Amino acid sequence: MTIEYINGKFLTPGEAAVPVEERGHQFGDGVYEVIRFYGGTGFMLKEHLDRLERSAEEIKIQLKDGIGAIQKIIEEGVERSGMKDCYVYLQVTRGAAPRNHLFPLDTEPSIAMTVKPAVPLPQEKVNEGVSVITHPDERWANCYIKSLNLLPNILAKQTAYEQGCYEAVLHKDGRVTEASSSNIFIVKGDTVITTPLSREILPGITRMAVKDVCDIGAIRLEERHFTVDELKQADEVFVTSTTSEVLPVTKIDEKPVKGGSPGNLTKLIRELFCARTAES
Ligand code: PMP
Repeated sequence: MTIEYINGKFLTPGEAAVPVEERGHQFGDGVYEVIRFYGGTGFMLKEHLDRLERSAEEIKIQLKDGIGAIQKIIEEGVERSGMKDCYVYLQVTRGAAPRNHLFPLDTEPSIAMTVKPAVPLPQEKVNEGVSVITHPDERWANCYIKSLNLLPNILAKQTAYEQGCYEAVLHKDGRVTEASSSNIFIVKGDTVITTPLSREILPGITRMAVKDVCDIGAIRLEERHFTVDELKQADEVFVTSTTSEVLPVTKIDEKPVKGGSPGNLTKLIRELFCARTAES
């Protein structure tokens, strides 16, 4: 059963009314997380909570009862949902207050959450890979914060969708940063390459898991910048995210990646990743 939660209350879906002067709504003044539960366990839950805590800190939102209280809300929500495989979407905003750019005084942050059934990736996408477009990265300078402000991401993803593609791979000054809602990896020879962490990209939790499985599987991984040309000439390409897991990319701007089907290292990394989610 889908669950909704806002500020201490679990509600029937559709029942929650967010105040008009909620700052998340008016300014995108908040941060969020998306967590996947597999078999009743939150995959890398601690890492998601750590990132949420950091994001909140970066935009100067104080979590009144700490991150532990948020963990309890998540666990209660999943328990109430009765679902073992679900997505938890959780957002923390600076709260509701008369509209003013300045931080409100004496306003408590709002916490909202939904728990929804997980939708397994269509087998066809896993087997055949997805198509992507390349798109200018038009976002702000602090993309390491998982902020609610997703307008450039939404516009890029919609452009991809309208061209029959799954994702938009973003680039700035000729360098690839990440994709509109996922991190990006390329393979050249026996080496997996991904953009290094910086303020320009979100430190993806799935990215972190892929780094771990490469480590354990003795797969060479380099964190370095690469160009759009390198992306297009890569032997293999894949994107990672909580909802896309490890997903092969087989077409970029209408041209096939190498042979046009998912590469062996991508398949191996996906298998190792899925084994991890199964044991979580
Ligand atoms: N980059 C961006 C811009 C994203 O929105 C996401 C998905 N939240 C990711 C990367 C992947 O992060 P994660 O693996 O933590 O879901």
